[in-house]
This record gives sequence, structure tokens and C-alpha cells, in this order.
Amino acid sequence: MKIHEYQGKQLLKKFGVTVPRGIHCTTVEDAVKAAETLGGKVWVVKAQIHAGGRGKGGGVKVATSLEKVREYAGQILGMQLITHQTGPEGQKVRHLLIEEGADIQHEYYVAALTDRATQSVAIMASYEGGMDIEEVAHNTPEKIVKVFVNPLVGLTDEQGLELAKGMGMLESSIPQCIDTLKKLYTCYMETDASLAEINPLIHEGDGTVKAIDAKFNFDSNALYRQPEIVAMRDLDEEDADEIEASKFDLAYISLDGNIGCLVNGAGLAMATMDTIKLFGAEPANFLDVGGGATTEKVTEAFKIMLKNTQVKGILVNIFGGIMKCDTIATGVVAAAKEVNLSVPLVVRMKGTNEDMGKQILKDSGLPIISADSMAEAATKIVAAVK
Ligand code: GDP
Ligand code: MN
Repeated sequence: MKIHEYQGKQLLKKFGVTVPRGIHCTTVEDAVKAAETLGGKVWVVKAQIHAGGRGKGGGVKVATSLEKVREYAGQILGMQLITHQTGPEGQKVRHLLIEEGADIQHEYYVAALTDRATQSVAIMASYEGGMDIEEVAHNTPEKIVKVFVNPLVGLTDEQGLELAKGMGMLESSIPQCIDTLKKLYTCYMETDASLAEINPLIHEGDGTVKAIDAKFNFDSNALYRQPEIVAMRDLDEEDADEIEASKFDLAYISLDGNIGCLVNGAGLAMATMDTIKLFGAEPANFLDVGGGATTEKVTEAFKIMLKNTQVKGILVNIFGGIMKCDTIATGVVAAAKEVNLSVPLVVRMKGTNEDMGKQILKDSGLPIISADSMAEAATKIVAAVK
């Protein structure tokens, strides 16, 4: 689960990290009022969407008068902000953060994240923060310093110093930098985050170390014990079909291709998507109906897949283990009838009650194409949509 920058900064602040004073708002009038309340001469008007790269996309503007705050807020609110993380259609801006301007002397990068390779929490830092960190990570990874934290000890002073020096932090700001890194680590751990990124972390003219941006991802398996985080969820920022699917306990992720896949088990779903690609087409979604799919669940799954107008065919790939093939077949037939299925449907099922399942499909009178192997199923569905 993700949250907005303004919420991320509230979390950072709660854990003691210095952030600019700022006010969240949703109208132009409130944006101007927020700037008045903050006072000063320079404000930053920031689009709040669940994607990075807002600066480059025109979603972050520095204003030097209240008129400019009004102008920028008017431009940014309601715009379809397109960044390298939103996809080509962009994301509609519904929230703004108005902040006091920061006296940026240098932009650094710091992040706490789950490192799969070492199965530990890594803290990363770089001198090359700001808007091009992806390029730095790709072209010159040696410019990023990394330490791994022992969970029993936490981030040590030595590690903090190694990071602060490695990221080239202004000498006199090193103590505050180490303190910030420790607080970032604590915040990451206490909130069950899987990513807590500050890009940029800056030092100001007076040496103050400040978080100018905040990006968080949270482990959805831990949300049951994080009510404060769950309260920050913004469903407007999430895919409507994915939210609908989660109500039925279906793991659904929409993708760009044209072949809908309905599979039981995440591993088989991944293998099915790979096979579709191998045979020259692209999957329209990932969809795992899980182990205990009922007729109702399968019907909902069909409805959700077919909402995507890109879908030109559906591949059902089921391994009957605990789940029986005849149950799935009954579900597929009922769903196909209920939604008046008009695209080709290929079904492959293997395992428990396979023969019964195949008979149900046959007896249904529906134009369902049967397949035995994964390769055969993929070949048939790819041919059917071409
Ligand atoms: P992102 O592009 O979505 O990562 O958004 P950021 O919050 O990181 O902002 C992008 C860039 O805007 C930063 O790297 C800064 O260069 C600039 N920026 C953000 N806040 C301020 C500020 O208070 N003053 C100035 N001068 N620039 C800022
Ligand atoms: Mn940023």
C-alpha cells in the first residue's frame, strides 16, 4: 500500500525527522490560505499523487508570491499528471501540498528498504539525489552506499557515519544526518514499511538536514496491525478493478495485453503469463482465484477481466488439487452464461476430477476451446485473438 507525500512527511515528523512546514489542501482557495498561514516569501506547490517523477512532469512549482501560488495551484489541481511512474494516461491530481520554500544547498538521496538478496533491511544513500536517481542507480551504482541493518541492534552509529560520509554529507551536518538516518530506520520498522525513501534529503544554508520528499510503500500483509497507516489509504489512487477484486478475495493486477488469464495459484498464474508471452502475445491481467474458488468467485473474476475492453480472449488454466476441476468448470460455464461471453475462451484443466470438468464444459454447449498442455492452451488462445 502507498500513501501521499504529505502523509509520509507526517510520519517522518512523528519519528523526529525534520520536514518543511506544510499544509495539505484540495482547493485553490485553501492553497492560497495555506500559503498565507505558512507566511514567508517562497512556497512550493506540490501535486500529491501516488507516483514519483512529479517534478519533471510539472507537478512541483516554486512560487514567489501569493498570486503565483494561486496560479500554480489552479494549474496543478485537476490536471492529468504524467510521469515515468504513472503510465501514459497519467494520474488526476486531487490533492496539493503547500510548503514553505526550502533553502536547498544540496540534494542527497536516502532510503530504507527490504533487500531480498540478503533478507535484511538495507539503508542506501547517495550524493546524487534529486530527480535523476534512477539513472544514477542504473549507470553509476557505485555512487550509492549501502549498509545492512542487524534487526537486534538497529542502525549503529558506525553505520550511520559510514552512510553520512559515503553520501558526502556536509561535514558540520553529519551528526544531524546520522540522527535522521536512525529515525528513518525506526520509522520504517515501526510502520511495517517495505520502502521509506527521502529524495531529496537536503542540507540548507544553516546546515539543517531536511526531508523534502517522502515516499512510502507498506507491506500489505502487516496492515492488520497498522490502523494508522490503513487510515491513510487513498482509494482514488488505486486501480478500481483491483479494489473490486480484493472485495472478492481475488488477487488481480491489470496489465497492458489482450489475453485475460484466470488461474489458481500465484505461481501457476506467473507461469501462464510467461507462456502467453513465449507464444507471442501479452497477458491483460494477473488473476489468482486462490485455492477455494466458488462459482460466485469465478463469475466475479470473469466480470472484472471483461471490464477491460482490451481483452480479446480468455485463458483459464486450472490445476485441480484441493480445488476440483468440476467446481471450476461449473463456475466457468455459469460465468460465461451470466456475462454473455463474446470473446474466445480456452480452458485447460488438470488434476482432481479433470474428466468430470471436461464433460461439464462439453455439455454446456458453449464454444469453449479445450486444451491439454500449457503450450497447446497458449497456442490456441494466441491464435484465437489474432
Ligand atoms: P518528485 O519529482 O515526485 O520526486 O518530487 P520532489 O518532491 O522530489 O520534488 C522535485 C524537485 O523539486 C526536488 O528535487 C527539488 O529540486 C524541487 N523542490 C522541491 N521542494 C523545493 C523547495 O522547497 N525549494 C526549491 N527550490 N525546490 C524544491
Ligand atoms: Mn522526489
